[in-house]
Amino acid sequence: MARKIGFIGLGIMGSHMAANLVRAGYDVSGYDVVPASVEKLLQAGGKPAPTIAEAVAGAEVVITMLPDSPQVAEVVLGAGGVLESAPAGLLLIDMSSIAPETSLEVARVGAEHGVQVLDAPVSGGEQGAIKASLSIMVGGEADVFETARPIFEDLGRTIVHVGGHGAGQTVKAANQLMVAGIISLVSEAIVLLEASGVDGERGLEVLAGGLAGNRILDLKASTMLGREFAPGFRIDLHHKDMGIALSAARAAGVALPVTGLVAQLVSAARAMGHGSLDHSALLKVVEELSGR
Ligand code: NAD
Repeated sequence: MARKIGFIGLGIMGSHMAANLVRAGYDVSGYDVVPASVEKLLQAGGKPAPTIAEAVAGAEVVITMLPDSPQVAEVVLGAGGVLESAPAGLLLIDMSSIAPETSLEVARVGAEHGVQVLDAPVSGGEQGAIKASLSIMVGGEADVFETARPIFEDLGRTIVHVGGHGAGQTVKAANQLMVAGIISLVSEAIVLLEASGVDGERGLEVLAGGLAGNRILDLKASTMLGREFAPGFRIDLHHKDMGIALSAARAAGVALPVTGLVAQLVSAARAMGHGSLDHSALLKVVEELSGR
């Protein structure tokens, strides 16, 4: 019989990741508060679980892919949560992007229940989830990481153990501050080009081949130029990640001035009502600041 994985959180990312695990031969039992998301797993060949307890029952591994720290705390530590029904020896892999201190708390309480925990947030977006080409940054014990490596290889391409519990989340925070900063600068380049009467498409094409070339330009230049902002990665989630980055900076006693400024642009995007759009909608904020 195929080994069972419980998968909790079947949204934009989790639905594709769970489907990849079904394809890899695992018996995947999935739970989400939104019934339609569970339906997608059924179509992919997985089994819907009506409760967290049923997703966990008989599983060797449970993966969570939830929006933010409060949901992970509730699903793992709360009443009716993963730890309540976890068999000793269970491996819990949280792949959500959350605060490092929540990952530390989950690992600490998990250990009290005999559950091993890894924090393993990802980068690569929905396309990376679909193509199983995610970058996966893993915090936790090295031998537990090695046990989980075959599962990570079914989900991603660049898989690195970056340190102890919470370290995966710190690396993810660094990823998110860079991504928001790069989107902001690509937005400023677009506004400058267009306001100066230069064709945006040609301008960005040549920029992509030089030192300013980057993956945001490769993946998002054409949708940004066409003002298509369907998510992808929602501004609301990036707002959460900028908060994580700034509080991690405070905890580490370092100053991240550019991140502070970019975080304000992300807050402005939300305040302007763009929270459910893709994070490339930062372009709308830069345009608004220029009266365009
Ligand atoms: P999403 O909102 O599409 O999916 C989250 C899912 O969790 C939803 O289906 C929601 O119904 C479910 N959920 C919420 N609370 C729940 C609960 N208490 N119990 C069970 N299910 C619950 O978000 P997403 O875009 O898939 O992102 C998930 C995580 O991955 C986030 O932390 C995000 O920051 C991170 N991430 C997203 C992307 C991306 O491009 N979308 C890329 C990398 C990392």
